[in-house]
Amino acid sequence: MRKKELALAVIERLKKEYPDSDCTLDYNEAWKLLISVRLAAQCTDARVNIIVPKLYEKFPDVNALADAPVEEIEEIVRPCGLGKSKARDINACMKMIRDQYNGEVPDDFDALLKLPGVGRKSANLIMGDVFGKPAIVTDTHCIRLSNRIGLVHGIKDPKKVEMELWKIIPPEEGNSLCHRFVDHGRAVCTARTTPYCDKCCLADICEKNL
Ligand code: SF4
Repeated sequence: MRKKELALAVIERLKKEYPDSDCTLDYNEAWKLLISVRLAAQCTDARVNIIVPKLYEKFPDVNALADAPVEEIEEIVRPCGLGKSKARDINACMKMIRDQYNGEVPDDFDALLKLPGVGRKSANLIMGDVFGKPAIVTDTHCIRLSNRIGLVHGIKDPKKVEMELWKIIPPEEGNSLCHRFVDHGRAVCTARTTPYCDKCCLADICEKNL
C-alpha cells in the first residue's frame, strides 16, 4: 500500500475507533493552552490540569502573569517539573503577548514559534486546536505510531516526522489524527509494554504487524 493510501486508511479507522478524540489539556482561552502545553513537557496532562487552576487563582489573566515575579509562578508550577525554566518561559511569553500582541495569542505559526518556550509541537497544537487550522503535532505517540505503522521509516526527529506526514496526510485531517494517535498510543499501541497488536484496528495494514 502506498503511504498516502495507508495514511487515509489509518485516518478512517482511527476516526471510527476514537470518534471523540480531543486535546486532554483543560483550557478555555488560547493563552491558557499555551501555558498548559509548556507545563506538559515531561509531565502528564492530568497533573497539568490539577496545577493550572491554582496558577489562575493567583494570576487570573495575561497581565497578571506578565507582571508576576517568576519565583511565585515557579512555586506553583514546581510539581510539573522543570519549575524554574517553565516559570521563566510562562512569564516571558505572557509579557510578549501583552506587549506585542495586545494580549491576544497570534494566529500565525511563525509568530507563535517566536514566543518563549513555544516549539513546533506547541505551535501546531495551538494552530489546530485554537484556530482550527491545519496542524500536525509530532509528540512521542505520533512519532512512535507513525514509525510502527509505516507512515515514516526510521525517523525520530519531530520536525522531520512532521515534514514527512505533511506530504501524505490531508491538511485538514492532521490535527484530529494526532489526537487519535495519542488515544491509540495510550490504549493499544503502547510504548512501555509490547503493543497490543491482536486487538488493534490497524493490525492488517500496520507495517510492524505484517
Ligand atoms: S498493529 Fe501493533 S504496532 Fe501496529 S499500530 Fe496496532 S498496536 Fe501498533
